[in-house]
Amino acid sequence: MPRSTASARLAKYGSMRDFSRTAEPSGAHAATRPGRIFVVQEHAASHLHYDFRLELDGVLLSWAVPKGPSLSPTVRRLAARVEDHPLDYANFEGVIPQGQYGAGTVLVWDRGTWQPEDDPHAALAKGRLTFTLHGQKLHGRWHLVRTRSARGAENWLLSKGRDAAANTRIDITAARPESVMSGRTIDEIAAGPHRVFRGECSS
Ligand code: MN
Repeated sequence: MPRSTASARLAKYGSMRDFSRTAEPSGAHAATRPGRIFVVQEHAASHLHYDFRLELDGVLLSWAVPKGPSLSPTVRRLAARVEDHPLDYANFEGVIPQGQYGAGTVLVWDRGTWQPEDDPHAALAKGRLTFTLHGQKLHGRWHLVRTRSARGAENWLLSKGRDAAANTRIDITAARPESVMSGRTIDEIAAGPHRVFRGECSS
């Protein structure tokens, strides 16, 4: 998909942020890379949540998951669809300053690639997306199912598929709290140094 389309998709993201105040990427330098990336970012904002992002059409489709992912196939986690983010947001870890949108600490909790089981555009339109994650903490089959939309907000449910990577005993967010990018905990990132840590991926 052309860059211009990705830029149009990021208009809402850009309108919500002041890039002279926050170190979050502006999306002006859209990266291209093989395969589709996924990232889960723990975000200690006014309410702690995990941002679940899937690359499609040059942007990161994004859902805010208050309780984070569960490896148990019987657990469905609320995932509120939020604005598309630029691809290089997948490398963002650090502190969003007070007064800025989403002020708080961001930790790259998991990252890797994803594969949709069927045509992802049709699946998203239908509200039933089944996919495989190849991450460091999350693996195997997952589902995102849309439940309802109200006033432009879309609620989806994130759940683990039944496969060898499912696990009903481990609380994965508690068992593996560390950043896959820096090894730091959310408190270590919040404590500073207050600079953005950028990993090996850059555009
Ligand atoms: Mn967030």
